[in-house]
Amino acid sequence: MSSPYPPLVPTPRVLMGPGPSPVAPSVLGALAMPTIGHLDPQFLEVMDQTRDMLRQVLETKNALTFPMSGTGSSGMETVLVNLIEPGDRVLVGVNGVFGTRMAEVSKRAGAEVTVVAGEWGRALDAEAFTRAASGKKFQLLCAVHAETSTGVLQPLDPLREVADGLGALLLVDTVTSLGGVPVRADERRIDALYSGTQKCLSCPPGLSPVSLSEAAEKSLAKRERPVQSWYLDLSLIRNYWGADRAYHHTAPINMIYGLHEALRLVLEERLEPRFARHEKNTRALWGGLEAMGLELIVPKAERLVPLTTVRIPDGVDDAAVRRFLLDELSLEIGGGLGPMKGKAWRIGLMGHGSTRQNVTLCLSGLSAALAAQGRTSRVGDALAAVAAVYD
Ligand SMILES: *Cc1c(COP(=O)(O)O)cnc(C)c1O
Repeated sequence: MSSPYPPLVPTPRVLMGPGPSPVAPSVLGALAMPTIGHLDPQFLEVMDQTRDMLRQVLETKNALTFPMSGTGSSGMETVLVNLIEPGDRVLVGVNGVFGTRMAEVSKRAGAEVTVVAGEWGRALDAEAFTRAASGKKFQLLCAVHAETSTGVLQPLDPLREVADGLGALLLVDTVTSLGGVPVRADERRIDALYSGTQKCLSCPPGLSPVSLSEAAEKSLAKRERPVQSWYLDLSLIRNYWGADRAYHHTAPINMIYGLHEALRLVLEERLEPRFARHEKNTRALWGGLEAMGLELIVPKAERLVPLTTVRIPDGVDDAAVRRFLLDELSLEIGGGLGPMKGKAWRIGLMGHGSTRQNVTLCLSGLSAALAAQGRTSRVGDALAAVAAVYD
């Protein structure tokens, strides 16, 4: 008897939203390799290499570095529930969706949360953290390095200084920065970070790299109560990733194959050329969008390279434009979140998707979509601005 359900045949898309990003064929190939046991010596070797490569991409020597089983949010929850004990004071920068989420998770973990609220679409000022702390000591200072909801890159060095003054560990969301812009975990003295696989690492969603400094490990060792979450308890999971290889939960074997290959590609390209590629393609995108008469939301000095937010011109139908791109060009861009819903498009140039070809496709597609709504498209100006960046 044949199944009433046909086999899956998803139409390929060009992914230029806030993630997932396009996945390289060799990463998809790695995902399809034979599943073996999670304690098989072959797999243990894959784990060791994956951690090693992860440290290189993070530019850290942190012993406690490995991918959590879950998407980026599981990494967020992991570092927060491991480093917070009920009653701890936590300072959280909130200028977008992901800062908001960190504050919420911290509250649920029992922290006394102080929010440093900033304008969506702007970086946070270090002074605002100092003011909000009002002379008290804090366990954690939390910030989002690359706010994917707004397209802002947060400078971390000034926050490190503030954290030092407060006696706080610096905890950073690097989900959209890792592999696209420098994270440099040790140089910036980041104490705890988490990332994701489906942004600039160009792997499908499903794992969340985390890394803790020695100071953060000490704080973990000093806990009075066990971590509320058994599944996310780093003191247990480290025994599986470390020399003991003690079973905790079954590692998502094939996802780790995928991450292994994605990290291998990053290191093969090398970090600095990869960052330069991201920057160049995004500069071309910015130039093209502005030449079309579109307005970028974030001031240039605070803009995030992997994710650009564009103001939707008055009277333009947001949903119709995105639908046109998807239906006519199989191209996905993102809509706005929170206060930017209906007001902004989010265009990602991440990892394998950061190419001149995608820049050109997106600009041509947007102008065709705008023309379909009776707007002048100025595609020639946009493509001339793009060419100027590459010449
Ligand atoms: C995507 C993202 C997350 C959440 O990751 P999920 O994989 O969706 O759970 C967290 N922080 C930032 C900055 C992100 O871009």
